[in-house]
Amino acid sequence: MNMRAAVLREHSLRMPIECVAVDEPRAHEVLVRVVATGICHTDIKVAQVPGLSPRPIVLGHEGAGVVEKVGANVTKLAPGDHVVMTFDSCGACPTCAVGKPSYCHEVAAVCFSGKRLDGSTTLSGDGGAIHGNFFGQSSFATHAIANERNAIKVRKDAPLELLGPLGCGLQTGSGAVLNSLGLRAGQTIAVFGVGAVGLAAVMAARIAGASRIFAIDVVPERLALARELGATHVIDGGKSDALREILAATGTGVDHALDTTANDKCIEQAIDCVGPLGTCGLIANKSPAQTAPVKILGSMLRGRTIRGIVQGDSVPDIFIPRLVDFFMDGRFPFDRLVKFYPFEQIAEALRDADSGVAIKPILRM
Ligand SMILES: [Zn+2]
Ligand SMILES: [Zn+2]
Repeated sequence: MNMRAAVLREHSLRMPIECVAVDEPRAHEVLVRVVATGICHTDIKVAQVPGLSPRPIVLGHEGAGVVEKVGANVTKLAPGDHVVMTFDSCGACPTCAVGKPSYCHEVAAVCFSGKRLDGSTTLSGDGGAIHGNFFGQSSFATHAIANERNAIKVRKDAPLELLGPLGCGLQTGSGAVLNSLGLRAGQTIAVFGVGAVGLAAVMAARIAGASRIFAIDVVPERLALARELGATHVIDGGKSDALREILAATGTGVDHALDTTANDKCIEQAIDCVGPLGTCGLIANKSPAQTAPVKILGSMLRGRTIRGIVQGDSVPDIFIPRLVDFFMDGRFPFDRLVKFYPFEQIAEALRDADSGVAIKPILRM
C-alpha cells in the first residue's frame, strides 16, 4: 500500500514528504492509520546527529491512530481500535520479563535500527528500502506498522489527535514521578526544566499529592505555565540560585529531584538539592560522554540515590490508559502544552520544537 511519509536522507531537519510503500502487517504487527503524531527531542537529535540511526529513515515516535489491519497472531487489538504508539521492546529479555520494558536489552535493535529483528524493512520507495520501525512505529507518516506490544489501546471517547505524546515525552515525565521516583503524598520535588517532560512531571507530582513542587527554568512563560499546572514555587534559574532557594524553603532539601535539561549546572543542582534518603532522577543527556558532578560525601551522608530513568519506567499497556483517564478527569491537562501543525508544515514544526517556540508540537495527518 502507498502512503505519504516524511523521509530523512541526510543529517538535518529536512524531511520532505514522499510517496512510500508500506508493508502488510506480519504475524505480531498492526497497520495503523496515523491521525496525529507528536514531535519529541529524540526525533530532532536522531535527525541531526550521525550514527544514531541509518538513512533513509522515517522518524516519529509519538503516533496516535486507528488500527486498520492486524497480523495473523495479533490478539490484543482489532481493526477500529484507537491506539497510542509507544517505544518498542522485545518482550523476551530479562528486563522485559520483570516488567521494565523501557530498559529492554534489545532497545538499539527494536527502536533505532530502522528494521525488523529479521533485518527486513517495513517501508520502501523509488530508490529501494527505506528504514521504518523507528521506536517500532515511524509515525511521521500517514500510516505506520507497529508491533502489537507497542500499540496501546485507548478509550474511544478521548480526543485521539491529542494523545500521541503520551507515548513518549509525557509518559517520561509523569512516569518518572509516579513510577520511578514513587512520589508519595506530602513529599517534595524539584523539577529542573519545564518543557513537555518537566511539565508532565509537575502535573504528575500534583496528582500524587506533593506538598511542594519546585519548577526551575529560564523561560518566564514556561514558569508561569508550570505554576498554573501545579508548581508551588517557580525559580528563574537565570536570575537566582535555585539550590539556595530550594534549601532555604525546605531546610534539608527535597525528597525528589528530576533533571530534564541535560545542562551541567542544573544536573549539579538537582543532585545537591536532594535531602536525606531522597532520589535524583536523570532523564536527559547531551551526549553519551556527558558525566555528572556528584559530591560523594554529601551524597553518602544523606543516603542519596542518583538514578537514570527511561520512559518513566512505564508499562505502557497499564500506564498510558491511566494517563488518558487522568486527562479525561481534568487532572492531567497536557492539552495546555500542545501546538498543532498540518503534516505539510513538518519543517516548521521541527524548527519550533528545536528552538522551543512550541512546547509540544503535534502534526495532524
Ligand atoms: Zn526486552
Ligand atoms: Zn521521545
